[in-house]
Amino acid sequence: MDNKKIIVVGGVAGGASAAARLRRINEHDEIIMFERGPHVSFSNCCLPYYLSGTVQRANQLILLTPEMFWERYRIDARVNSEVIRINRKQKTVTVRNTQTGEEYDESYDKLVLSPGAHPIVPDYKGMDKVPFYTVRNVEDIKRLKEAIGGNAKKVSVIGGGFIGMEVTDNLQSAGYQVTLIQHSSQVMGKAFDHDMAAVLHKVLYDNGVQVLLNETVEEVDEKAIHLKSGRVVETDVIVVCIGVYPDNELAKEAGLEIGSLGGIKVDHNYRTADPDIYAIGDAIEVYNALTHMDQRLSLAGPAQKQARAVANHIHGKSSIIRGYIGSSCVKIFDYNGATTGLTENLIHRFNLSLQYDVTYVLPQDSVGLMPTSEPLHFKLIYEVPTGKILGAQAIGKGDACKRIDVIASYIKMGGTLDDLQDAELCYAPPYDTPKDAVNLAAMVSNNALMGDFKQVRVDEVRPIFEQGGCFVDLREPHEFAKGHIKDALNIPLSEFRDRLDEFPTDRPLYIFCRSGHRSYSAICALQKLGVPDVYNVEGGFLGVCWHEYFADQTTDRSSIVTDYNFE
Ligand code: FAD
Repeated sequence: MDNKKIIVVGGVAGGASAAARLRRINEHDEIIMFERGPHVSFSNCCLPYYLSGTVQRANQLILLTPEMFWERYRIDARVNSEVIRINRKQKTVTVRNTQTGEEYDESYDKLVLSPGAHPIVPDYKGMDKVPFYTVRNVEDIKRLKEAIGGNAKKVSVIGGGFIGMEVTDNLQSAGYQVTLIQHSSQVMGKAFDHDMAAVLHKVLYDNGVQVLLNETVEEVDEKAIHLKSGRVVETDVIVVCIGVYPDNELAKEAGLEIGSLGGIKVDHNYRTADPDIYAIGDAIEVYNALTHMDQRLSLAGPAQKQARAVANHIHGKSSIIRGYIGSSCVKIFDYNGATTGLTENLIHRFNLSLQYDVTYVLPQDSVGLMPTSEPLHFKLIYEVPTGKILGAQAIGKGDACKRIDVIASYIKMGGTLDDLQDAELCYAPPYDTPKDAVNLAAMVSNNALMGDFKQVRVDEVRPIFEQGGCFVDLREPHEFAKGHIKDALNIPLSEFRDRLDEFPTDRPLYIFCRSGHRSYSAICALQKLGVPDVYNVEGGFLGVCWHEYFADQTTDRSSIVTDYNFE
């Protein structure tokens, strides 16, 4: 094996992983890792948890020091060392010591770029005069923690993406009054569709967060954020979490190709236009196997896997990349959200020419007798008519990630509804039900695909109600009494065969129960008993309550239910 001198730019998720893998492959390579900041190998993903004290000390965020890199791996990790130029002809980089200003050149045989991304900073009026905070590295989070440590009580988080949500959760949990300002009609629009985000909105609201949707910042000053709507949000500290942009300057200046999304262009071995220069992580564009388009994917898992692939390729092993689908998860207070593959938001945003349908189920995540049993909001997206699985989203107090990991694996393997309904998953009462949510969603989807029954989505209920649609509630009277859709008929499942004449036959009927299970059974019977135009309400009354609640509480619209019931 030829020994090489390899330079890595960036010492965190992608860079540190590449350097470590390179060492594992060859003991004799010279490996130098340059990091602009004062720390290498820290846990970006744990940064928000320092705000709540879940991570108690900032230095716990730092996983390895330069000394440890040298002692354990003989990797020369140089912090406070910014690579300011790539001299491709000479095969050198120019490095500046950020503390002394000293500059020097270092040669390479192979160069790996993992410079990450910059937080996007908006230019709202007043931003140049008021301190604000972003969350990208250990220094950032220390600064923010210091700022809230004084007299600050009210914190505004601008941007409800992954990082904004985690910062909100951790600050609110630590006792601050957080206002979350989101310019669109939902949080986490890249990961969750509007119907699923309604669940997140309620969770935020229930935990005391002031969630302001469809609001854009006009101006900031020392005491407040002024929104374009005229609303003024008093605030002591402003945290900006409106997304990231690939750190592409070094590559751009070196004449490497940059894609239309701003990321560095790479081939399937993560090689740039220069065969001796590789790029990985947040700075690159990757191929999405579902949209068949390039995308940016700011996630730690892909960065670390790309690091492995690059180290392998430098040492003669090619990778086969099936393309990315994007799988991620988030904790929001006592709820867990997870998502993979296509969302409806993505399908519409990219105008994908795709026929698809969706199923939303709301089963218990473990056997109902178990004290930990909780509802799981689960949405499956599949292609019509092939049944190919395209994406899924799950939110609940239980293990949403497990379900989404299953779906992600099936998507990667080209799985269909038939495969998924057959999936053999672990079951014991505390952990699951014999038919897991993913099996159930596949079965319901298959029934719908085969035309066995018709259903309406939880977000269609309000428009149907406003047009005077007829809802039939199959729950027992004591359940009905605790809350129901206004004007709904109550014909309990235990009586409906004897009360068939009470089902109107001159209009479509929208049938529901608590979560959609009993109503499905009734629909199968009703269709055979001569009541043909029946629709199951996906997610049932519980789903309707979750979907309606936040907007009912925070806008002046009137509720379509007599009372909410979340049991
Ligand atoms: P980074 O890990 O950001 O490393 C890039 C490093 O390069 C930086 O330290 C930078 O200073 C350095 N650098 C840049 N230019 C130069 C230069 N010219 N010279 C020297 N050094 C340079 N992902 C998940 O999958 N799950 C999560 O839960 C999750 N949570 C996150 C929470 C937060 C708060 C943040 C900020 C990110 C989170 N991520 C999460 C995203 C994940 O951390 C990134 O996708 C991943 O770190 C990208 O790796 P990278 O190597 O491309 O960039």
